[in-house]
Amino acid sequence: MKQFDVVIAGGAMAGMTLALALDTLSRSQLRIAVVEPFTVDHQAHPGFDSRSIALSFGTVEILKSLGLWEQIAPVATAIKHIHVSDRSHAGMTNIDHSDISVAALGYVVELADVGRIYQTQLEQRPSISLLCPDSVHEIERTASHNVVTLQSGDQLECRLLVAADGAISSCCQALGFELKQHDFDQVALIANIRCQQAHQGRAFERFTEQGPVALLPMSDDRMSLVWCLRPEVAERVLQLDDAAFLAELQQAFGWRLGQMTQVGQRASYPLLLRYRAQNISHRFAIVGNAAQTLHPIAGQGFNLGIRDVASLAEEVVQSLADVGRYQVLNAFSRRRQADRDTTIAMTSALVHIFSNDYLSLRIGRNLGLAMMDNVPSLKTPLLQRTLGLVAR
Ligand SMILES: Cc1cc2nc3c(=O)[nH]c(=O)nc-3n(C[C@H](O)[C@H](O)[C@H](O)COP(=O)(O)OP(=O)(O)OC[C@H]3O[C@@H](n4cnc5c(N)ncnc54)[C@H](O)[C@@H]3O)c2cc1C
Repeated sequence: MKQFDVVIAGGAMAGMTLALALDTLSRSQLRIAVVEPFTVDHQAHPGFDSRSIALSFGTVEILKSLGLWEQIAPVATAIKHIHVSDRSHAGMTNIDHSDISVAALGYVVELADVGRIYQTQLEQRPSISLLCPDSVHEIERTASHNVVTLQSGDQLECRLLVAADGAISSCCQALGFELKQHDFDQVALIANIRCQQAHQGRAFERFTEQGPVALLPMSDDRMSLVWCLRPEVAERVLQLDDAAFLAELQQAFGWRLGQMTQVGQRASYPLLLRYRAQNISHRFAIVGNAAQTLHPIAGQGFNLGIRDVASLAEEVVQSLADVGRYQVLNAFSRRRQADRDTTIAMTSALVHIFSNDYLSLRIGRNLGLAMMDNVPSLKTPLLQRTLGLVAR
C-alpha cells in the first residue's frame, strides 16, 4: 500500500491548485497524491475543457502568493473595464480599473492553458504523485488514517482525503454527504466570438429576459461568450448555423463591440446550484465545485473555490505531523462558512433578480444599476466580492 499525507480526488482547477499550494506552503514536506481519471490533454477532461474563466483580482493575489501566477500570466488577458447593462432599459453601471487604482480588475484564462501549466508544475515537484488515469473507487476510514482504493485496484493510505472531484463528487456520495440542489432552468452556452471592434480589455455583462450574456476579453482579440438561456431556447440556438447564431446573439447583446463576425465551436452546460452545507468529516474535506457549484452569472465559481483551497492549505500546514486532525478540519470549515454562504446567496439572488421580466423587478434592477453607478457605498460590497477581496 502506498503511503501519503494527503490524497486529493480530482485533478482539475481546485485539486491541482491545492496540491501545488500544499507543496509550496509545506516546503515539500508533505507526500501528496492527486487522482484524476483524465489526462490533461484528453478531449473529455471535464475540468480543463474549452471554457475560459475570469480570475478575480483576489484570486490572482492568491496565485501570486503561491508562486503560480508567473507561469499563468503570459496566457492571461487583463480585464480593464466591466460594463453591466440591462437589455432595452436604461440602467447600467461601469467599473474601471482606474476607479480603484489597480492594474486590472481580473484576468481571463483558458482552462486548457492552465491545465497544461499545472501539469508541468506538478511533474517538477517530487513530493506530488499524479495518479492518472485513475479514480477514487472506495474509501475506508479508521481513527488514524484513510484507505483509498482506486479503480485500478491500487490502494493508498493517507491522513487526509480531499474531495476536489466536482459537482457530483463520488467521494461525497460514498460518504453519505447531503447535497442540496436548485435547478435554475437555464443552460450556459459558451463559444469564442470575433467582433469588428477590438475589446481593449473590456468585459460586458448584459441582462436579458432570457438570462445574462457575458463577453470576456481574450487573447488575439477574441471574446469569450457565456450566454445563459432557457433550456428549450438554448437547444434551438445551438442548432443554428453560424450566421443565424451571430444574428441572434447580436440582437441580445447589442452593438457595443460593432458587428459580431465569427463564432467558434459551441458547448453547453446545464445550470444548477449544488451545495453541501457540511464541508468536512472525519479525515475528509471538500473544496471547489464539490463543495458548491454556482451559476456563472457573476464568475464566482473558481474564485470561491480557490479560497477553499487556500484556507485548507494554510490550516493543513500548521499541523504537518497529522494533517487530518479534527482541529485542522474544524478550523478550515469555520473559516469558510461565511464566505461560502454569502457568495452562494449573492449569486443566486442575482440570477433571480436579473433573469426575470416582471415589471417591478425590471424597474428595481434598473434603478439599482443606475444608483450603483452614482452611489459608491452601494457599489462597494458587490464590487469587493466581484474582485475577490473577501475575508476567508
Ligand atoms: C460556463 C461557465 C463559466 C464559468 N465562468 C467562471 C468564471 O468566469 N470565473 C470563475 O471563477 N468560475 C467560473 N466558472 C466555474 C469554474 O469553471 C469552476 O468553478 C471550476 O472550474 C471548478 O473546478 P473544480 O476543480 O472544483 O471541479 P471540476 O472542474 O468539476 O473538476 C473535478 C475533477 O474531478 C475528477 N473526478 C471526478 N470523479 C472523480 C473520482 N472519483 N476520483 C478522482 N477524480 C474524479 C474529474 O475528472 C474532474 O477533473 C464557470 C463555469 C461554467 C460552467
